[in-house]
Amino acid sequence: MPDAAEPAEAVDVAVVGAGPRGISTVERIVARHRSAHRQGTGPELRVLLIDPYQAGPGKVWHTEQPAELLMNTMSADNTVFPDPSVRLASPVDTGPTFLEWLRRIAAEGHRNAECVAFARASGERDYAPRRIYGEYLADAVESIRSAPGPVRTAVSRDTVERILPGGGGHLLRLASGGTVTAGAVVLATGHLDAARPVHGGHLTGRHPTDYGLDAVPAGAEVLLRGGGLNAYDVIALLTAGRGGRFTPAGYVPSGREPRLWITTRRGVPYHARVDTPGVRTPVAHLTPGAVDRLAARDRIDFRSDVLPLLHADLALAWRERGAAGPLDLEAVAAPLRGRGFADADALQEWFAGHLDADAAAATDPALPPAAALAVAIRQARPALTRIITAGNLTGESYRRDILGHLNGFANFLSAGPPARRVRELRALLAAGVVRLLGPARPAPGGGWASAAVPGLTLVPDLVIDAWIPAVDVASAGPGIVRALLADGVGRPHTLPSATPGAPPLPTGALDVRAADGRVRCPGGGVHDALFAVGVPLEGVRWTTAIGARPGTDSAFFHETDQVAAEVLAHLAGVPEEILP
Ligand SMILES: Cc1cc2nc3c(=O)[nH]c(=O)nc-3n(C[C@H](O)[C@H](O)[C@H](O)COP(=O)(O)OP(=O)(O)OC[C@H]3O[C@@H](n4cnc5c(N)ncnc54)[C@H](O)[C@@H]3O)c2cc1C
Repeated sequence: MPDAAEPAEAVDVAVVGAGPRGISTVERIVARHRSAHRQGTGPELRVLLIDPYQAGPGKVWHTEQPAELLMNTMSADNTVFPDPSVRLASPVDTGPTFLEWLRRIAAEGHRNAECVAFARASGERDYAPRRIYGEYLADAVESIRSAPGPVRTAVSRDTVERILPGGGGHLLRLASGGTVTAGAVVLATGHLDAARPVHGGHLTGRHPTDYGLDAVPAGAEVLLRGGGLNAYDVIALLTAGRGGRFTPAGYVPSGREPRLWITTRRGVPYHARVDTPGVRTPVAHLTPGAVDRLAARDRIDFRSDVLPLLHADLALAWRERGAAGPLDLEAVAAPLRGRGFADADALQEWFAGHLDADAAAATDPALPPAAALAVAIRQARPALTRIITAGNLTGESYRRDILGHLNGFANFLSAGPPARRVRELRALLAAGVVRLLGPARPAPGGGWASAAVPGLTLVPDLVIDAWIPAVDVASAGPGIVRALLADGVGRPHTLPSATPGAPPLPTGALDVRAADGRVRCPGGGVHDALFAVGVPLEGVRWTTAIGARPGTDSAFFHETDQVAAEVLAHLAGVPEEILP
């Protein structure tokens, strides 16, 4: 219980985590409450946003991070306010998209000169430094907080360590020692902290600024494990971030770079993000009708019931774009498979050609076959989301096919970095700062043996594990989601086994009632006033790490708006609907 000398602060709603989803939830509460009480006479609502980082940017978008860390989505593809495409039963178009904000500050100026310079020099298809998006999010919080009407939003720079039923709602214990009682609580805490220990010579992290890269000496031989967005971030920080420069003639080193040997399961890093807006590929198999039928079935097996349809649409896209031979998806998924190289230099030569072709395909308006696959996968996301979130996959299939296959394959093809990053990687390869090791495993005598070059073993000075671990509440490091499980407040989400009578299998997510985001108790019922949104629910929802994109009726807002509606109904004493 709270210390008698320090009474708990009492609020109506506590939102834990003030990144994009946390602030969107508050924005939806404000928009709904205002529209329900237009004359301004509604009951005053006290909302508290809690995050150890600045409200708005939160951890991912914090405004102090190095300028080399770029967004992986184009300026036109981000918003934290619902644009008019979002079909909600509440007000939309309540604030600017990122692009609208950039245009406004280009004309009107801004307290941050870097933002103005970027806004004036860039276009809708450029990739902003993440800290500029952080400034947009910080402004969004200010405009939400200053919106007229009966909602008072306060901000607390603190960490919530425990959430316990009590105090007429929930009691929140804070790292500072304080406590808060809240009528309703929304958990919007983003990626879970990694549990992997940082042991000697091995750097890990969740955000690229967590890695402690200052510990990497110039000239060190570094094994960089991972080829996704985190790996590209680490490369940027250890090269341009250390004073190197990319010029039209190539990379000019600062002399402070280590040598980075890249190893990934697939052999090569993620493909460049295909940047050909408006181009579509045909859909003949994963059609709306097929999706309806699959979503209505019980216990489906993704590999046998869904993947053949997806693969058939990929093959169609491949053929339609004039590919010479049949589509070999295994070769697409692992471009080094079956290839052997006489020595490390021969592998680098192949890698140089691979990167050149990749950057060219990603920006070719004619959409060559390799790029068409990325477009086809991206296009299929809404259909796949519908099937995966219908909750009728078997646990075995979810773990094997979604966690073990689809997520990695789809991200590898379609969620990579801007082509600019791939061109920079090519320049770093030419400068000898980066080398490819290919798939590698620990060698019996020590070091890491390349599967692509017989006899090539790297004994690195340091290893960097550059990836964000998959969401898994059971194995995550300490954090509020783990605390909810330990306190018996929440439970892991599971899906039924394919084998009748066998126990259900965990998906890695925190369990919520999918219909309204209410956190489930260990016994299976729900907490009436404890909600969760976003990344910890991966497994109940899908691709929760993706932010909201204008023009797409983004699911991001459907989730935060639904929770806002439930929170307000709960506070108003409206009886909860009887849901399973
Ligand atoms: C390095 C990185 C780069 C990314 N780049 C892009 C991109 O370019 N484009 C894109 O669309 N998406 C990107 N993403 C995905 C990103 O997760 C989403 O865009 C978005 O930030 C998710 O919003 P969120 O609010 O759900 O989570 P987050 O942004 O992660 O916010 C969660 C917040 O909760 C806070 N928190 C956690 N635990 C507690 C606690 N116990 N008490 C109080 N506060 C807590 C954290 O400090 C954090 O600020 C990136 C993600 C990462 C990690």
